Order: sequence, then structure tokens, then C-alpha cells
Amino acid sequence: ISVTDLVKATFDNIAATDPELNAFLTLNQDAALKKAAEMDEKGVDADNVLAGIPLAIKDNIVTNGLTTTAASKMLENFVPVYDATVVKQLNKQGVINVGKTNMDEFAMGGSTENSAFKTTKNAWDYTRVPGGSSGGSAAAVASGEVIAALGSDTGGSIRQPSSFNGIVGMKPTYGRISRWGLIAFASSLDEIGPMTRTVKDNAILLSAVAGHDDHDMTTSTKEVPDFAAELNDQTSVKGMKIGLPKEYLGEGVDQEVKDAILAAADKYRELGATVDEVSLPHNKYGVAAYYIIASSEASSNLQRFDGIRYGHRSKDVKNLEDVYVNSRTEGFGDEVKRRIMLGTFSLSAGFYDAYFKKAAQVRTLIINDFQAVLKDHDFIMGPVAPTPAFKIGDEISDPMTMYMNDVLTIPVNLAGLPGMSIPAGFAKGMPVGMQLIGRPFDESTLYKAGYVFE
Ligand code: GLN
Repeated sequence: ISVTDLVKATFDNIAATDPELNAFLTLNQDAALKKAAEMDEKGVDADNVLAGIPLAIKDNIVTNGLTTTAASKMLENFVPVYDATVVKQLNKQGVINVGKTNMDEFAMGGSTENSAFKTTKNAWDYTRVPGGSSGGSAAAVASGEVIAALGSDTGGSIRQPSSFNGIVGMKPTYGRISRWGLIAFASSLDEIGPMTRTVKDNAILLSAVAGHDDHDMTTSTKEVPDFAAELNDQTSVKGMKIGLPKEYLGEGVDQEVKDAILAAADKYRELGATVDEVSLPHNKYGVAAYYIIASSEASSNLQRFDGIRYGHRSKDVKNLEDVYVNSRTEGFGDEVKRRIMLGTFSLSAGFYDAYFKKAAQVRTLIINDFQAVLKDHDFIMGPVAPTPAFKIGDEISDPMTMYMNDVLTIPVNLAGLPGMSIPAGFAKGMPVGMQLIGRPFDESTLYKAGYVFE
């Protein structure tokens, strides 16, 4: 099969599926076919497993010449003039970018219902949400439109939609992947990561996009392993010590979700690992601390959308103040405004000590909890989300319920650790994921532990 045939088949499939599924915001058909034809003419490097592979990219990752909106009216007509570092790395490997996937506006949300443009559906049940904010990427992979996609994860946005759609999603260690060209939400938490059907594909993709970048001073100079090459047998968990936090199987977690995790724990024991109950006592404060920290950082990052340099500019203006106020009023959706107000308040004089500073202190307690457990455990296991995918419309008018979806994923971002979602079974007929949480820069162990189930 030629690259052109593969890319054509991919777009035919998307044309048949996406009018209902709504995973994509922008398709890159002409450029993709052109690149495929060039590759076929030159001949594809048979040793490079990524050459000619069609892949989708979340719409908060900038792509040169291809509209990038972050699912916001603010950026409806924004065409970037450069590629994000991850996109550049994929291009170098010969990956074909088929298009940009739907998401919650500026990655704020957990259902993709906050997109300014459309609501993506869950690939398994079109009455349910795909999760979010990387819901478009998850639905595109789970439906078979593409075999892999990039997402971003600030508090769960790769892992929760992966769980809801039964795919594999990795949020790597903070500093593993360059965020140059990722439209910033909360800079101390944001990570980019791969979303795939299999653990092995995920490992291949992480090796391809990870590594130091001079454009992102938070990236580590640590060597990037060939993660996939380490996956050759399914017994490598033998002798490992695994922690199962009691808080992760507590109140509010669906019984069938708990059963899936307990069954996975039994499987690890059968393979010669030990699984002990551990405790992360400050985990329960994670959501509160996160919404202060993430919103504070967002309120600062989103200042750049001023109606002058980027994106939407209001036509209804009489003076400079109007340019700022009316452009932002018209360009941002409700959830984005809620976060900007919350963040600005938390950082303001008189409230900083009570809110932002407290949240930063809580963050340290959460980091210490993880360190204590990971000192003598190879990794931590638990659910990704307390429930399987909910119905479209069910939670969107209730922000607090929506925020609680991420109670098990948010602490991992606060601590900067790697976290992966792998399919672990079903609850209420819908897929549910298991979360594996590792030591900093030890994605290898998570892939090995996930590969057991492949
Ligand atoms: N659902 C969380 C939020 O709304 C996490 C989003 C994310 O990881 N980008 O902030």
C-alpha cells in the first residue's frame, strides 16, 4: 500500500464518520495528499515506523499554515506562521498530519462541550461525551479515523478522554516534551502527550516527540529512551512493588470502576508483583488547589488575547479600552471567563495569601505524599476517573460536578509525574481506564506495566 492510498483511505473514512462524530475542527487534506505523493515518489524509509502514518493533532498545538483555534472564537481565523516543536519532530519522521481535533475551549473542561464550534461524541455511544479536553483526539483514535493523535493534559485532559473512549493516553513527566507552540493554559501543569490504540504505539510516539528543546526552558536534557524497544515480554512486572491508594477507591467512585481496578491488581499479583494499599492523604485537596493555580496561570497566559496582536477584534469600539473589553467579551466563552475571573481574584492584592499561596502550599503536600509512596513502590495504580462517560448535557451546567471528574488525575499534574491511562474493562457498558502513575522520568515502567494488558 502506498502512502497516498493510506492517506486517501483515511480521509474517506473521516468523510463517512466525522459528520456525526465531530472529532475534527479542521482537515488538512490537500497538504496531506501532497506530502503523501512526494513521499511515494521519493520512496519511504522502511526502517522508520512512523513514515507515512496519518495522525491527528489537538487544536491547541500550532501548525504552520493550518488554522489553529484552541476551539475558541477568539482564534477562529488564526493561521500560525510556525510549527510547534512536537509538530516539527513528527514532520521530520514523515508523519502525515490529517487535521486538528476538537477540544474544550483553551483546554478548559472535561467533556469537549466547551468548544465554541461543536460537540464531539463518544466513539462508543453517540449520546455520551468523549471526555475532555482532548475529546476530539480521543474520539478520532477510538473510532478508527486515525491510529494516533496528540493531546494535551493540564489536569487530566489526555487521560480522562482516553479512559472514556477505551484507548491509551500518556501524560509524560513535566519537562519530558517541549510545549513550544502549545497554546498555554497553565504553564506549570501543561504537558503534551500521545493518544493511541496500543501501549506500543504510544511508546513509539513518545520517543518521537520527547526531548530537550532550546525554545522551552522547562524541558529536561535527560536522554529519551527508545520506550518501545523495551517492550518485549509481558512478564516484566515480576518483582515490582505497586501501590494502590485507598483514597482512589473511595466514595464517589463507581463500583464497576473499582471492580475493574481490583481485577487488574489481581492480574499483577498473578504475574509476580506485589500490590499494597497505600495512602495519599492530601489527594482530596487537589481539585481545590488546582482550580486556584490553573486559573491564576490561565488569567495571566490569556492576557495576550487583547484584540490587537492575536485573533478576534471587536468591531464595536470607540476607544482602546473598548478594544480590550469588547474583543474579550465577544471572543471568550463562559468557562474561560469564569477561570479568568477566578484566577485574577486569587492573585489580587489582599487575597493572594489566602488563595494562591495556600494552594501552592497544598501542592507541596501533594508532592510529598507521592514521593513517600514512590520511594518504595515502582508505580501507583488506580482509576482514571470516578465514572465512565456521562451523557451529553448532563454535567455542563454544573461546573463543580464537572471539576470533580478530575479528582484522580489532577494531583499527578500538580506533582509533575507521568500518568498513563490504559483500557481496564467496562462500567455501565462503557470503557473505563486504569491510571498508572510513575516516578519522574520513568515512563518506561508505566509502559511495561501497561503492556501486560496488551
Ligand atoms: N478538566 C480539567 C479542567 O477543566 C483539566 C483540563 C486539562 O487537563 N486541560 O481544567
